[in-house]
Amino acid sequence: MELLRPAADGYDRHVADLKGACAFCAMSADLDVGEYPLWKWVFAAFPYRKYHTLLVPKRHVEDFSELTPEELAGLSELTSRVERAYRESGIVGEKPALGGHLVFSWRHRVALDPAKVSLRHLHLHAYPRPDGQGDVGSEEGAWDVDVKVFEPFA
Ligand SMILES: [Zn+2]
Repeated sequence: MELLRPAADGYDRHVADLKGACAFCAMSADLDVGEYPLWKWVFAAFPYRKYHTLLVPKRHVEDFSELTPEELAGLSELTSRVERAYRESGIVGEKPALGGHLVFSWRHRVALDPAKVSLRHLHLHAYPRPDGQGDVGSEEGAWDVDVKVFEPFA
C-alpha cells in the first residue's frame, strides 16, 4: 500500500510560500488520481479526512459561472465517476469503511479571505463522512490512506 505523505511545512506555510501564485495551476502530479480532458481528480494535499480528494478544472476559473458547457459536462461525468469510485471501493456505502456519506463541497473564495488568494481556482472537495457527524473538522491521521484505492475506477 502506497501512502500519502503530509507536506513537511504545513498548510499555512504552503499557502504563504505560494506568494499569491495559484496553488492549482502549479499542482504537482504526485497527487493525481485521474486526469481527463478538462478536469483533474487529485488527492487533497491537506486532507480534512481520509480519502479527501478534489475535482479541479484544468483551466483557471474561480466560479461555476465561468465554466464552459464542455467543462460543466466534464464535471458531471467526473462527479459520477468519483461517486462510483468511493462506493465501489467500499469507502462509503452500505458497510462503509469510513462513512455512510460522500460529501461534495465547494466554497467560493472572495475578497473576504484575501490571505487565500492562491486557493481561488475552483475546486470541489469530496470526502467520506460518518453518519451523525456534522461539520467538517480535520481528522487525525487523514494522510494515512492507500493512494491506489481509486485506481480501478479513475
Ligand atoms: Zn489556477
